[in-house]
Amino acid sequence: MIIVLKRDATEEQINHIVEKVQKLGLTPHLSKGTERTIIGIIGPEDVLAVTPLGVFPGVEKVMPVLAPYKLVSREFKPADSIIDVGKGIKIGGRKIIVMAGPCSVEKLDLLYEIAKEIKKSGAMILRGGAFKPRTSPYSFQGMGEEGLKILSQVSNELGLVTVSEVMDPRDVDLVARYVDILQIGARNMQNFNLLKEVGQTKKPVLLKRGLSSTIKDLLMSAEYILSEGNFNVLLCERGIRTFEDYTRNTLDISAVPVAKQLAHLPMIVDPSHAAGKWGLVSALSKSAVAAGADGLIIEVHSRPEEAFSDGEQSLLPSTFATLMNDLKLLAKAIDREI
Ligand code: PEP
Ligand code: MN
Repeated sequence: MIIVLKRDATEEQINHIVEKVQKLGLTPHLSKGTERTIIGIIGPEDVLAVTPLGVFPGVEKVMPVLAPYKLVSREFKPADSIIDVGKGIKIGGRKIIVMAGPCSVEKLDLLYEIAKEIKKSGAMILRGGAFKPRTSPYSFQGMGEEGLKILSQVSNELGLVTVSEVMDPRDVDLVARYVDILQIGARNMQNFNLLKEVGQTKKPVLLKRGLSSTIKDLLMSAEYILSEGNFNVLLCERGIRTFEDYTRNTLDISAVPVAKQLAHLPMIVDPSHAAGKWGLVSALSKSAVAAGADGLIIEVHSRPEEAFSDGEQSLLPSTFATLMNDLKLLAKAIDREI
């Protein structure tokens, strides 16, 4: 349910309604837009049958949220959500945030070398998988906890925020101890037990769109996380399966403005897994920023030919540096910054 307030509702009236909602055992979510204020309500709404909030001073109307992804929807919260991912970094505001690093954590000194480079170019978040969802059971599966230790050691030394995938509900506490942002991979977007588990933490979650999932499916999966109480969700478009097989997947650029129209959550784009080829990553990154993405996650490796996974789509640090310079100019043209 949402309470739409009158344009001239006073602070006192708003506070009074918020208190009343809390007294009824419901949780209010205040969303102050430029036009008007909306209070989204979560909880057993049957109590509203005996307390008609519509008659309170300052209220224009009380209405149900029609979208099936209720908490995620713009109806529930018209203002953009800004997610604090730690170390003073916020995603969803004017600043576009870049996450970069190797597909997999491989070795301490190698990760340190890559991390230093991406930081110098302006990336603020270090990526690196320790639990890898590989198509073949015979491919490198990741270093596990040892990899998480390396990721957290490097990021602490350099003052970077970290993002890393968690694949199993039983590993959520372990991964959450080491990393700042929990990544849910494309193949796990509809692993509902995993979504509920990360929903019970307060950690930011990077939720990647499934390979054959619609935008609505992505928003429904985000709803699982929010409905457990964790509103710190970043959506991520990473390419979908289409008949086109020149690229690894097809980057659905329209998912950026669509998700941003329907949902209040930040939208990140992963051009690396969409392209599958490093030579396409810069163009896709620029189109994502032009389309309104709030952040990018890009694979970078200093020796891509030796990478344990996804070397063919990883940028060299020097190419990444050039891309970051281009993105700075582009961001300026759309009144944002990187
Ligand atoms: C990754 O980020 O390395 C990864 C496996 O991504 P996705 O889940 O999008 O394939
Ligand atoms: Mn990868």
